[in-house]
Amino acid sequence: MKTLREMLVEAQQNQVAIGHFNISDLAGLKAVFESARALDVPVIVGLSEGERAFMGAREAAAAVRVLRQDYDYPIFLNADHTHSLASAEDAARAGFDSIVFDRSELPFAQNIAETRRAVETLKAINPSILIEGEIGEIGTGSEIHEEAPQGLTLTTTEEAKEFASATGIDILAPAVGNTHGLSRSMVRGEAQKRLNIDRIGEIGKATGLFMTLHGASGTNDDDLRRAIRAGITEIHINTEVRLAWRRGLEDAFAKERDQVVPYKLLPAAVDAMKQVVSARLLLFNRK
Ligand SMILES: [Zn+2]
Repeated sequence: MKTLREMLVEAQQNQVAIGHFNISDLAGLKAVFESARALDVPVIVGLSEGERAFMGAREAAAAVRVLRQDYDYPIFLNADHTHSLASAEDAARAGFDSIVFDRSELPFAQNIAETRRAVETLKAINPSILIEGEIGEIGTGSEIHEEAPQGLTLTTTEEAKEFASATGIDILAPAVGNTHGLSRSMVRGEAQKRLNIDRIGEIGKATGLFMTLHGASGTNDDDLRRAIRAGITEIHINTEVRLAWRRGLEDAFAKERDQVVPYKLLPAAVDAMKQVVSARLLLFNRK
């Protein structure tokens, strides 16, 4: 079985990106795994601190490990947006393949110092774990926002270079026009996020790191294709899947008013999530 690092190298060489989808429960995991398996592409399952608090870090790790082993399948587990070293250590011990150590809200120098310390501590627990660091602003909350955030600071090439060499991270999450969540106009299909492709290419050249695009829900498809060609190797989709989950459940509840059997209602949510995940995986893995 190849490691996540090997899969990212392969993605880079093939100019494709590995899809990363957040889950809160086993229905989400089922949707992500079945979608990836139908297309025979590697996939990353992510859990933020909130998602881990609900599902359990060790429980999620066990569920993903079973799929990986039983199906001999390249499915990986990422501890998404982790804001404290203690919770990052928990995830490393639980067997996560990568950790997004996100102290991007701190001043630059402090973000560097804390991220460097996290890299040292987490690699001492598991030397092959990949650590992702974040600089710049990509907004908070993979949810529906009244309006798209305005005036977020993009990552500069200079600070990306300094951050990469000073921290020893494996993966960089730059801010290049991406934002977490969807605005109401994006949900209505009237607006899309647009990316700064030149900046992605420059940051990739300057750092030599793998790059993850966070907050990709609602992004223009062609921008995503160009971002992958410019060096993005991993793309996070969360809000689109959450929206599909809710709509799928609402449809099922509306159709079957007296149904109380969870496994008869939940497939509608799984199917709705699978449509989103499959479409995104097709886009990310098309050469
Ligand atoms: Zn994110």
